[in-house]
Amino acid sequence: MPIDAAEVAAIAAGYPKALTVATVGSHAALDIADGAASEGLPNLVLAQRGREATYARYFRTVRGPDGGRRRGCVDEVWSYEKFADLAAPAEQERLRQRAAVMVPNRAFSSYVPLDVIERELRVPIFGSRSMLRIEERSERENYYTLLEHAGVPTPARLAGPEAIDRLAIVKLPHAQRRLERGFFTVASPQEYREKAEQLVARGTILRSDLATARIEEYVLGPVFNFNFFFSPLAGRDDGLELLGVDERRESDLDGMVRLPAAQQLELPPSARLPEYTVVGHGSLTVRESVLEEVFRLGERFVRASRERYPPGIVGPFCLQSCLDRTGRPVVFDVAARIGGGTNVHLALGHPYGNALYRTPMSSGRRIAVELKAAADTGRLAEVLT
Ligand code: AMP
Repeated sequence: MPIDAAEVAAIAAGYPKALTVATVGSHAALDIADGAASEGLPNLVLAQRGREATYARYFRTVRGPDGGRRRGCVDEVWSYEKFADLAAPAEQERLRQRAAVMVPNRAFSSYVPLDVIERELRVPIFGSRSMLRIEERSERENYYTLLEHAGVPTPARLAGPEAIDRLAIVKLPHAQRRLERGFFTVASPQEYREKAEQLVARGTILRSDLATARIEEYVLGPVFNFNFFFSPLAGRDDGLELLGVDERRESDLDGMVRLPAAQQLELPPSARLPEYTVVGHGSLTVRESVLEEVFRLGERFVRASRERYPPGIVGPFCLQSCLDRTGRPVVFDVAARIGGGTNVHLALGHPYGNALYRTPMSSGRRIAVELKAAADTGRLAEVLT
């Protein structure tokens, strides 16, 4: 049985006002910890042994003799052999003892099995527990079906390799690093066959994944990841905020496009097919006349999420889009939780979030603000799932 609202509300009812903001140590964990620190909430990073130094050493909180924060933002780190171990019953109890609220990031929903998150993890989540699954492209109900229901434009889907009649992108997992991408672009069935063979031979993709790959129109235009926040406390009409926009640096695509054309042609054929591994982010703003459309899409997403996945989206979410030549955003991916690129807001906030709040407002800080407000007004049940 999925964990229901009443169960989460009962756990939250036993929590003191001083919550602990907990997250998994990867993907935006620093933004979440920094935001909690800015709002005076204790935070906890759940890390995996061998990849905890960023949190446990380099960004750990150091306090002065008066107890005040002298440097750093990560208050505490608990390390596990594997991330998924955080869901062991004894660890759940330990988290509840600390009045922990989990803020889901991509590492959380990738490394802790979704079935466990939905059915076994009895720790309140700030966000939408049931929506984490929509990110799995292999699910029948996923973000594409939700976006379609919402009326948000997505790249046209091509029925199969034989239907490739324009520049298209083939989406499937990487052969070895299963959470990464083995994407490639093609413009004809013939090119599809050639590139697929080359990538299978190179060990980038698995032949068995090709059958379930999604083939969609390639949207020619820059990528804008819109980092939104929906506040259930503010209510449906005032709840949607755009905090920031980021873009990605992808390896080795970005390395290749920095080469002049003549040097690109010097690459051996096997190195000419780029991989799309996200390795960093940059901050962007969007042309002002496009903003209204961006808000329209955000509103549609919120409405559809409330219809399909009650109580709907809670807190941060990210619509990842390409802007086509008319400036129209076409959404090719969704994070139904904090996006992977919000560290661009870290501590500085973002032009949009700052303009709205008249103070540096990152995604991480906005989460802490909402949690504090919910705890102070006895409305935690409205923001936790
Ligand atoms: P995703 O895994 O869906 O977030 O996509 C990874 C990257 O692939 C994005 O950052 C884009 O650079 C690119 N991408 C994905 N879908 C499309 C599309 N339909 N058109 C153009 N680029 C895309």
